[in-house]
Amino acid sequence: MRLRQLSLTAVAATAALVLAACGQQESIGGGDTAPAPDVAQDVQFEAGTTMAEIAEAGTIRIGTKFDQPLFGQRALDSTLTGFDTEIGRIIAAQLGIEPDAIDWVEAPSAQRETLIERGEVDLVVATYTINDTRRESVSFAGPYYQAGQTLMVRSDNTDITGPESLRASGARVCSVTGSTPAENILEYIDPAQLTLFEAYTQCRDSLGNNQVDVVTTDNVILSGYVSESDGAYKLVGETFTEEPYGIGITKGDVAFCEFINETLTEAEASGAYEAAWTATAGTIDPEVPTLPEFDPCS
Ligand code: GLU
Repeated sequence: MRLRQLSLTAVAATAALVLAACGQQESIGGGDTAPAPDVAQDVQFEAGTTMAEIAEAGTIRIGTKFDQPLFGQRALDSTLTGFDTEIGRIIAAQLGIEPDAIDWVEAPSAQRETLIERGEVDLVVATYTINDTRRESVSFAGPYYQAGQTLMVRSDNTDITGPESLRASGARVCSVTGSTPAENILEYIDPAQLTLFEAYTQCRDSLGNNQVDVVTTDNVILSGYVSESDGAYKLVGETFTEEPYGIGITKGDVAFCEFINETLTEAEASGAYEAAWTATAGTIDPEVPTLPEFDPCS
């Protein structure tokens, strides 16, 4: 994880410089969309399953982030790019759903369980860490990727070197309500040091305005903001947690969980998983991840 963190930071910095020099700053961060996945034709699923219901409806409601470059970002023309949105498209395709028939629903960190529990989405693919607290209300397919928490600061900051430096320096730290990083960081700071917003873009803007000194969340989310910052921000220290990303679904829907896991396995074998990475987060970190071992579906 240490090497991975360093390479991600270095590549982000280099890419930002190169693209800034070419005057193409806008093109970085959001990435591109991968080639459209092959959409399964004449799909047949056992009656009564979530797969059959979605295939019958001809549409799927997918919760994702709209403001996290590299993983889920919506452009002004409403196009969504990011590794999460590509994973969503791959699952939809296996259900016979064309990319343009997907109903994308914004899923802020604190609302993901509620969206699933209320049946407002069929699944959530949104930098969503699998953990036991969340498993009390939803189930998870995957994991399909493993991230880790880290820190982002202004580039001229030399006081903050990692989570252990936060308490002594009295740093003002920002994260997001309902996220795992907001909880994990309390091991290293006093609650009064923490500001919570709904979205990481609000933290990023507060960092730029000097209202906070640190933004903390997953390395891949912060790398997206660093890559868009024209050198204003940097990552510091190593990752200090493990954040396995799962696909949230209705609690206890074992058949849908197994279907998604099979789809992910096939996507890795066919090269669709790699293509999804390369077109998105791979623009910053070219090292294609391997699919982690799945948790049992329950
Ligand atoms: N992966 C972490 C979580 O699920 C942080 C990212 C996020 O808030 O989406 O809470």
